[in-house]
Amino acid sequence: MIRVMVTGAAGRMGSAVVDAVTAAEGMEVAARVDPALASGPGVFADVPSAVAAGNVDVAVDFTQPTTVYDNARAYLAAGVHAIIGTTGLTDEQIGHIRARAAAGDANVIIAPNFAVGAVLMMRFAAEASRHMERAEIIELHHDTKLDAPSGTALRTAALMEGDPIIHSVRLPGLVAHQEVILGGVGETLTIRHDSLSRESFMPGIVMAVRQVADRPGLTLGLEPLLFSSED
Ligand code: NAP
Repeated sequence: MIRVMVTGAAGRMGSAVVDAVTAAEGMEVAARVDPALASGPGVFADVPSAVAAGNVDVAVDFTQPTTVYDNARAYLAAGVHAIIGTTGLTDEQIGHIRARAAAGDANVIIAPNFAVGAVLMMRFAAEASRHMERAEIIELHHDTKLDAPSGTALRTAALMEGDPIIHSVRLPGLVAHQEVILGGVGETLTIRHDSLSRESFMPGIVMAVRQVADRPGLTLGLEPLLFSSED
């Protein structure tokens, strides 16, 4: 049984992760971490006190751009594998996490988007960018998202040729959406992905929880889990 700690368990993503882990075979929620939760068994206000309790194998982090790096350091220091969905980590911070994961016993998977369709959208956009003249990215999210541009848009741009411009839209009613528009001579190609509910992220997260112990060091993006030839 994989013992999972959910950090940000009172949030929109974290509460969906608690339900998904509870429903999945072979894993259980051993700790919920969030300052917004009322105290009780298995509930902690912060990551250091949760890892000190020593009852978890894997942490799943959906918190905030300002706290995720300190959380990651605490998981690694405690030898707890980590699945990080929180966006907003800088390249420098990811570099430090990579170095620490390579040097220690705990593995890390960081993915800006756990939805399978979004991973495919990024892959198709990368391929199309090699054949079309220019491209721009429009990412659209709910109005309480803290970071802009989204981690998915930044990752898409990094995978594409031609340094595409990113436009960010924040509106109530949206969940997580992205359009990549590519332009050529007399034609355009639009690749669009929509997460219509947070359930779209759960199969990818559960897959990551199952696999993280067998993936040494840092894995960036869900691609190596989905496309085994890219290990
Ligand atoms: P949210 O509803 O604001 O939830 C975040 C929760 O984390 C809040 O309850 C917050 O508590 C808590 N928190 C903050 N710092 C913490 C800490 N150090 N320890 C424990 N809990 C802490 O946000 P959300 O919509 O769930 O999104 C969370 C993150 O996931 C964002 O970065 C978002 O971009 C990302 N995301 C990623 C994916 C993906 O597939 N990778 C998909 C969707 C969203 P307080 O409110 O009390 O501060």
